[in-house]
Amino acid sequence: MRILITAGPTREPIDPVRYLSNRSSGKMGYALATVARERGHDVILISGPVSLHPPDRVEVVNVETAQEMYDAVGEAIGACEAAIFCAAVADYRVVDTAISKIKKSSGELTLTLTANPDILGSCREKFGFAGVLVGFAAETEELLAHARAKLERKGCDLLVANDVGRKDIGFDQSHNEVTLLFRSGESRWIPLESKEKIAGEILAEVERLQAPGERG
Ligand code: C5P
Repeated sequence: MRILITAGPTREPIDPVRYLSNRSSGKMGYALATVARERGHDVILISGPVSLHPPDRVEVVNVETAQEMYDAVGEAIGACEAAIFCAAVADYRVVDTAISKIKKSSGELTLTLTANPDILGSCREKFGFAGVLVGFAAETEELLAHARAKLERKGCDLLVANDVGRKDIGFDQSHNEVTLLFRSGESRWIPLESKEKIAGEILAEVERLQAPGERG
């Protein structure tokens, strides 16, 4: 099957030399792309700025901002049977990006931010995507309740819930511990494992969900 994967952070420019971003390393998304390719899928990886090698035999589209990621997904998703949204997209961008470097002056500097488009949340209605849709939820509190609400709101078939309040797993770590929540109401906990192993578990579920009659 052809699978779209988003990965990494986005960068939202403040001026030509500064930006707003987050701690995502892209490791989980790149592991998903690598393992999906190994399982015989065709992969398009839409990646924010990361310092990882592009996986072999994977089509990579490099983007920087959330708006660029939104445009790249909108263009590619129609040809895919599954889409996995692993990117840590910046929720806000600066309204008026400065054309030249902002000079230091004493006192305060106020930046006005505006909301970025929700890429995953646009898949069903805006992009008309009917394939298997997988989201990630990184939460620091009430993990499962927030993740379940996100699954419903964004029209996902599967949501991977990730406790980022813990230092030993998640952001920039090689291992992770996640709970898979399904639209059917079921859930499955995957105890501490390498991101490659977790990627394999997620992809096995995507393959199962793609089979006729599996998504209700
Ligand atoms: O709403 P929140 O950022 O917690 O949702 C996380 C999920 O939504 C992830 O799968 C992430 O890749 C996706 N997302 C997105 N576009 C955004 C925000 C989040 O695709 N603007």
